[in-house]
Amino acid sequence: MNTHANFIAGDWVAGQDLIQNINPSDTRDLIGHYAQASRTQTETAIAAADAALPKWAASTPQQRADALDAVGSEILARKAELGDLLAREEGKALPDALGEVLRAAQIFKFFAGEALRIPGESMASTRPGMGVAVTREPVGVVGIITPWNFPIAIPAWKIAPALAYGNTVVFKPAELVPGCAWALAEMLSRAGLPAGTFNLVMGPGREVGEEMLNDPRVSAITFTGSEGTGRKVAHACVGRAGAMARFQLEMGGKNPLVVLNDADLSVAVECAINGAFYATGQRCTASSRLVVTEGIHDRFVAAMVQRMKSLKVGDARQAGTVIGPVVNATQLQQDLSYIALGSAEGAKLVAGGQHHGLIEGRPGFYLEPALFIDTHNAMRINREEIFGPVASVIRVRDHEEALSVANDTPYGLSAGVCTTSLKMASHFQRHLQAGMVMVNAPTAGVDPHVPFGGRKASSHGPREQGRYAADFYTTVKTAYIHP
Ligand code: NAD
Repeated sequence: MNTHANFIAGDWVAGQDLIQNINPSDTRDLIGHYAQASRTQTETAIAAADAALPKWAASTPQQRADALDAVGSEILARKAELGDLLAREEGKALPDALGEVLRAAQIFKFFAGEALRIPGESMASTRPGMGVAVTREPVGVVGIITPWNFPIAIPAWKIAPALAYGNTVVFKPAELVPGCAWALAEMLSRAGLPAGTFNLVMGPGREVGEEMLNDPRVSAITFTGSEGTGRKVAHACVGRAGAMARFQLEMGGKNPLVVLNDADLSVAVECAINGAFYATGQRCTASSRLVVTEGIHDRFVAAMVQRMKSLKVGDARQAGTVIGPVVNATQLQQDLSYIALGSAEGAKLVAGGQHHGLIEGRPGFYLEPALFIDTHNAMRINREEIFGPVASVIRVRDHEEALSVANDTPYGLSAGVCTTSLKMASHFQRHLQAGMVMVNAPTAGVDPHVPFGGRKASSHGPREQGRYAADFYTTVKTAYIHP
């Protein structure tokens, strides 16, 4: 049997249980069995990370840079194999899966460099004869909890900065995608980190995750996932006896893409197709609301319906597939129930929405991307995160109404506008209430070296990625020195 253990205190440790990792493009394909850690094993991993902390916190920047660079290089060297694994376990179409693997490598390389550039400040005091030094120190043991939709990039963008700034790590990946997490852990196990510096504990959120939230030796929790779980994480972190845990939450989105009358139609359609449907719509930054002004509305809808005919749904690893399967039966059910709800709410389904249990002989969770028109912003399909290949067009009068509808959402992760007017582009850049704004570009798809994160119910705490990651993974010390 192809089994994969957890990595705890520098050793590979069998779990209390095993789960099967199944290919959503072909449910007959068993990728492997993956260990499920018990609460006690999680506790052992936390103790190991705690014990390893003094040594890793005192490691030289060069040691950290070398370790992270080695992992980045290995990811690059194994890009094809890892991309294939990602597509196989998550269902992301192979070109997107390869792009995600490349992203993970870039992140490790970026933070290898950042380890050598940890900033500090030195300045004069307001008091005579005194000096002031502001330095950044590691926070401590960092607990990392990740979702299933970016099986390698999200773990990378949390693990790499945690280690770069001298923290030790306990990493719990999502149950649905243990394969990429395990592969990453296996690379880290050979990267020269002292035992206990990095630990992998695969297992259910309710056990492994909660153990991490409740253990006072875990100083910080970085979480990406649904809003509901994010709120539980926040409560647990502040509800602890003694020191509260520092926490960072990246959660859901209901991202608008505004299309103005003066937009280049083909640019707008490509932005909407990519943003709404690529990665099967399973991106927190997906454009699920297409807010379109009335002068371009009918042309935009007609072009979208036409373009959607060319989106080949199929096995994520087959050449030519653009839209892979939905990740599993539960998510498929959620998508289908929102499609039914949209019709019940009075929206008109103009393309897609059909589920196929079998494509080219492969049993999988296939769903044709769905487009609704005649929707308004108060409908539940426009307020709640669906997390599938389902988008709604909301028709508006003019740019003012477009902006107000775009911002009328509990979320604020990403937002976009398609326009050829510099004036409008600047106006929307300034007034869209989101952590990331895209002009003539899809709402999803970001760079690895700049901050990532949102506002309102989408996020809480400091930004991820780029130099801004230091704000979460370090704690600042202000020293007054009187020589
Ligand atoms: P989820 O909340 O179900 O699970 C996320 C992680 O939390 C998993 O590892 C899970 O095991 C763990 N978990 C579950 N219950 C827990 C508990 N009680 N205590 C501790 N950990 C627990 O989310 P998901 O279904 O894996 O991911 C999809 C969600 O992630 C969507 O809402 C999506 O928008 C969001 N997401 C957000 C971003 C972002 O950066 N904003 C990026 C990707 C995904």
